[in-house]
Amino acid sequence: MCLHQKPACVCKRNKAYIFHRDSVLPERVVINLYCPECRDRTNRDQSTMIEDVGWLIEYDMEVARFYLELKGVDHPVTPEFIFDEGYCTWYGMSPNDLEENARVHQELLPLQKKDKLLYFNELKRIRLAQFAELKKAGWRKAQNI
Ligand SMILES: [Zn+2]
Repeated sequence: MCLHQKPACVCKRNKAYIFHRDSVLPERVVINLYCPECRDRTNRDQSTMIEDVGWLIEYDMEVARFYLELKGVDHPVTPEFIFDEGYCTWYGMSPNDLEENARVHQELLPLQKKDKLLYFNELKRIRLAQFAELKKAGWRKAQNI
């Protein structure tokens, strides 16, 4: 089971879907989340934060190291490692990719009932176009697809 949560950012105007691979790290590993609107309330501390297209996640590095060591991970634990290895990262490609994905599925529901093959092709076409956009916008997880 993989834990996921949807915390609000510091200004409470936005939320992000956050995914925890294999539930290795608990929810409280996220100390603060800053959206592009409240991003300026803090300076990025490279030793505890990851930045992605205007969003900042601040991790509790002590908690992260404790649980990752417990899990037998012997890689230096950095915010990049936590994020890129999926231990605490966006659910999908960006903070709201999950919602976007759900919206596309909802939209295509009538088609799914009518023509399965067309549905899958259309789904693929839309998602690939979205991935290309996310990549262009600079989202970290979209860079390697
Ligand atoms: Zn905010």
